[in-house]
Amino acid sequence: MSSKRNENKQAFTMPQRTGQEWPVFEAGWVWMVGGGPGDPGLITLHALNALQQADVIIYDALVNNGILEWARPDAVIEYAGKRGGKPSPQQRDISLRLIELAHQGKRVLRLKGGDPFVFGRGGEEAQTLVQAGIRLRIVPGISAGIGGLAYAGIPVTHRDVNQSVTFLSGHDRTGAMPSAIDWQALSKGSQVIVMYMAIKHMPDICAKLIAAGRPPHEPVAVVSNATTADMQVLETTLGAATADIAETGIGAPAIVCIGRVALMRQCLDWLGQIDGDAIRNLDPLEVRGLSETG
Ligand code: SAH
Repeated sequence: MSSKRNENKQAFTMPQRTGQEWPVFEAGWVWMVGGGPGDPGLITLHALNALQQADVIIYDALVNNGILEWARPDAVIEYAGKRGGKPSPQQRDISLRLIELAHQGKRVLRLKGGDPFVFGRGGEEAQTLVQAGIRLRIVPGISAGIGGLAYAGIPVTHRDVNQSVTFLSGHDRTGAMPSAIDWQALSKGSQVIVMYMAIKHMPDICAKLIAAGRPPHEPVAVVSNATTADMQVLETTLGAATADIAETGIGAPAIVCIGRVALMRQCLDWLGQIDGDAIRNLDPLEVRGLSETG
């Protein structure tokens, strides 16, 4: 883990809350905080309150540096992810470091990408802290699989498409295809599938879903670096996704959305529209005119 001091001098006053105070970050506590999918504006006020008080911030890859500018000027900031080809610290090392800092009486902010409890090992880390007797607060964040898609103009649910969503990790803890997935059941039972960490195994995943009965023409959107200035969106289909990903070179970190909600981008690409793109289709699902919304 590397460390640096925050040189930004910006200070905040938290907005008033009638009849309520913001939580006070006590010495020796760890607050596990979601940093959202990238755009710093997508953190919560609880996250900001945490940044205003923490002595030490331990952050992961995929946490936007812009967020760290809101830390206290004298906060010590440590990076706990993979960098410059060096191996990432083991989960155990990170947990031990959090425990060590808490035992030193520091106010420790563990800042994780998206939501800490969504594919972020937050559950494991928090459990280790509780087992070590460390007091804890969890601050949820906007997960990339919801907020990232929203920035691409894709609603994760839409009444004309789905009443359920499945969040799927594209690999298991060894990096292999998730072995515990019942692809037949997934294919049949999941109206919309939102995949994290799926780029590496996309060829296998698409083949498995098609073999299990999902139509090759089913819409797919791949959203990489969602909510950041580097965001890229690929609109494709289950059958064409592998070739299109290879051809465009779109890469991790990416969210893959499988299902007809992906078509809604043709109407709801609000970021593109801000940039002057024309609306491609006012009714991508071909279900309703403007007057029929109800
Ligand atoms: N806890 C995080 C997920 C951590 S797993 C959350 O709730 O969002 C890491 C994976 O999240 C990445 O491989 C990628 O699939 C996804 N991800 C995180 N940030 C992303 C972003 N800005 N754009 C696209 N995908 C992202």
